Order: sequence, then structure tokens, then C-alpha cells
Amino acid sequence: MYDVIVCGGGPSGINAAISAARMNSKVLLIETTGLIGGNSVLSLVGPWMTFHNKGHQIVKGLAQEMVSRLQVNQVSMGHIPDPLAFCDTITPIDVEGVKALFFEMIEEEGIDLLLHAPIMDVIKEGNQIKGVICATKSGMLSFHGRVIIDATGDGDVCVMMGAKYMLGRIADGLSQPMTMIFHVANVNMDLCKDYMKEHPQEFVQKEAYDYGYLGISGFFSKVKEAKNNNEFSLPRDRVLLFEEVRPGTVSVNMTRVQGLSGVDALERTKAEQMARKQIKEAFAFLQKYVPGFEHSYILRTPSQIGIRETRHIIGDYVMTVEDVLACKEFADSIALSGFPMDIHSPNQESLELLDQGDDFGYEIPMRSLLPKGINGLIVSGRCISATHEAAASLRVTPTVMAIGEAAGILASIAVQTNLAPRDVHAFAVQEQLKKNDQVFKRSNHVSN
Ligand SMILES: Cc1cc2nc3c(=O)[nH]c(=O)nc-3n(C[C@H](O)[C@H](O)[C@H](O)COP(=O)(O)OP(=O)(O)OC[C@H]3O[C@@H](n4cnc5c(N)ncnc54)[C@H](O)[C@@H]3O)c2cc1C
Repeated sequence: MYDVIVCGGGPSGINAAISAARMNSKVLLIETTGLIGGNSVLSLVGPWMTFHNKGHQIVKGLAQEMVSRLQVNQVSMGHIPDPLAFCDTITPIDVEGVKALFFEMIEEEGIDLLLHAPIMDVIKEGNQIKGVICATKSGMLSFHGRVIIDATGDGDVCVMMGAKYMLGRIADGLSQPMTMIFHVANVNMDLCKDYMKEHPQEFVQKEAYDYGYLGISGFFSKVKEAKNNNEFSLPRDRVLLFEEVRPGTVSVNMTRVQGLSGVDALERTKAEQMARKQIKEAFAFLQKYVPGFEHSYILRTPSQIGIRETRHIIGDYVMTVEDVLACKEFADSIALSGFPMDIHSPNQESLELLDQGDDFGYEIPMRSLLPKGINGLIVSGRCISATHEAAASLRVTPTVMAIGEAAGILASIAVQTNLAPRDVHAFAVQEQLKKNDQVFKRSNHVSN
């Protein structure tokens, strides 16, 4: 019997597992692939954004500890100003460095890890979850836990427990597109920057961009030109890419697969196939149209397409666009986020950004981690209880890490006090977050 079972080894699940283990819980982390790190590792998602809002650090705690360790290992540049002004800072990370660190930390904390084990079913008594069942090379294995954390990103365990959810946006059920990020090496950054300096109107960039670290959202006319020449059919209006930690290397975020569901097995397979074709086309475009890419090559493609959005589990509280934009305060806040609502259109070429604008970001209530009507289960990560729009902001890596840290604490307190997670007072979770040097309230931010 485990105290806490964490389902899914993405950034949120890893943070949940570590924070629970640090509170002396006996923890099992179950992951369906052979790697931990979720989108950050499996789908090459980076840079992490954002740890800051309007000059204040709003995600600290365990997530910051990870960044500091990555910096010591020289596999992250740490927090640097966002060249695109999407948000305050971005945190470039090297995927191999992240892989290594996550495995190291899980071992250090004495967490039991089970890889290659998709969770297929739950063990339950009525609305109370008792454990999970996974498919493995050794057959179907069952594990009992006192509290289960669903960090699968898709809310798989919640759905197996019968939780209600929204798929994508309310109006038509469409989700943000999937994207297959890829890494390109041997890029002549100077040539690229020379073009940017000569054509600043072609780019979305922060005021007084110093052309140091390379981030590109633009080349609008080049994309148009290639479209007119029938050499670019992707539903995208721009080049979007970020410089990687390794010299001369960039991470390209240009493919876009729309209208398919990340939780439908056949559609997800089709998306993988379509995205691989798109990579070919996007790379050919970069080589032909974008200065500096003439002698570049594809260094790495991911093991799976990146999935931005699938289900949003309905919890005791559903976060909305108003909560984010008005920076609503919650007595049971357990994390802050400062990322704008970043909506890659589910069915068009556009990228919509809506900033909440406040210094200290907005609060995320603990009730959004509690699937409505289900006991013993906590949901963490990108599929917590929030609408399509609110999730478009809180889905980013630093935020889901902070949510995971709180989820692990909540689970451990529930175990220690023999209470259902729902009956744990948020104050107790907040006290532990403070001890972890994590920030979670706008009002006490300055003193933290
Ligand atoms: C294309 C793209 C670009 C993005 N850009 C950025 C960016 O620039 N900066 C940023 O900070 N964030 C970005 N994000 C968002 C961020 O990557 C994710 O939202 C974040 O990784 C979510 O973390 P998570 O732990 O909730 O879920 P995930 O990262 O999805 O991890 C879930 C984990 O659970 C596992 N799992 C799933 N189902 C099961 C099951 N049934 N049994 C066992 N294990 C299971 C998965 O294999 C995975 O390891 C981007 C996302 C995408 C897709």
C-alpha cells in the first residue's frame, strides 16, 4: 500500500511526487512511456515560461530548485527576459539535461518509479478511489494508494472514476492544436539577426530588443511569399522559434495539427503522421526562405507530438477567463501564474494573447484540484478544473510544476491527518508551501 500514487510523470507529476516524498509519504510514480518529463521531454517543449510577472518571481519552490540545479549543470540559461514580450521571463532548458535531472531527483527522494505502464483502470469503492491498474510487460499490475494524484495531463484517472469534464472549448469542443516541435542545428544566428534588424516591422518582439538571445515570432512576409509559391501549406502565419542552450541550435514551434483529439487513439496517431510531414515542409521552408538556415539540419524530432489541451476535469471550482483577467483572489490559493492566455487557434492560423497584466499574476484555488464528487483523488497539471481560456494560461510548465508541488503537499497532509483531500484545510497546504519557499498568494507575495 502506497501513501500517494502519482499517475503521469510530466512536470506536474514529478513535482507532486517529490513534494509528497519530502513530507515522508511513500510514493509511487507511474508513467506510460520510458521517460519522465512529459511534454518537456517527450515533445521537446521549451523554454519554460514563466517564473515571473512584471518583475516579480511568482513561481519559486521546487520548480526554482530544479532550474537552479539545471543551471549548475550548465543545461539551462536560467531566467532571461522574453525577447517576444509574451511574458516577463523565459527559461531555456536543454532536454537531455532535464531528462538527467528528473531521473536523478526521483531516485534521490526514494520514489518508486514504474515506467512503461499506462494506467488502464481504477480500483474503487463507490466514489472512493483505492488504487490503479496498469498494463505492463508483466501483465496487468494493481497498486493500492491512500491518495491518488492524476497528473496524466488528460485526466485519464479522473475519467475512469466517472468525473465530469469539458473537452476543449465550450462552444464547439475543439481543443488547441497539437504541435510537433523540432530542433535545428548549425543555424547562423548572426545572418538571421541581421535580417531582423533590417526588418523589425516583420516581427513581434519586445521594445528595445537587443538581438542577444534569439527568439522569433515573425517572418510574416516570408511565410506569405512561400504560401503564394505553394511552398507552405501549414496553418500558420509566422515562424516561431527559440534559441536552444546548445550553440547554433533552435527549437522550432511551427507545425500545427488542428481538429483532432489528443484523447482519441486513432486521431492521435493521425496527428503524429501529419506532423511528421509538416516538419519536412517547415524545415524546407526555413532552409529556403529564412536567412541563416541555409546550412542547418534537423538535429532532433520528438518521440511524440505535443498536446496542448484535451480534457478539463470539472472540480469543486472551475476557473474561468474572468478569474484570470481580473486576477481574482482565492482564500484557498495554492499557486500563482503570470502567463497570458495563449490560444493557438483550434481552427485558424492565428495566435491570440490576452494578458492579465497585474504585478503578481493570478491565483489558482485548491478546489480546482478536487474532481467534483470523487474522493481520494487529486487532479494536477494542465487538466485541472478550468475552462479552455483559463487553461490556455495555466497550462505552462512553471505553473503546472507549482500546482504539482501543492498537490503533493495536499495528498501528504490528507494521509498524515487521515482526512479526505477535500477536507484538508487549504491553510495547512499554504503553510507547507511557505516552508518550501513557494509563493501562492498575491497579497503575501512580497513577504515571501
Ligand atoms: C506544442 C506545445 C508548446 C508548448 N509551449 C510551452 C512553452 O513554450 N513553455 C511552457 O512552459 N509550456 C509550454 N507548453 C505547455 C506545457 O508543455 C504543458 O502544458 C505541460 O507539460 C503540462 O504538464 P503536465 O505534467 O500537466 O502534463 P504532460 O506534460 O502532458 O505530462 C503528462 C504525463 O503523463 C503521462 N501519461 C498520460 N496518460 C497516462 C496514463 N494513462 N498512464 C500513465 N501515464 C500517463 C504522459 O506520458 C506524460 O508523461 C507547450 C505545450 C505544447 C504541447
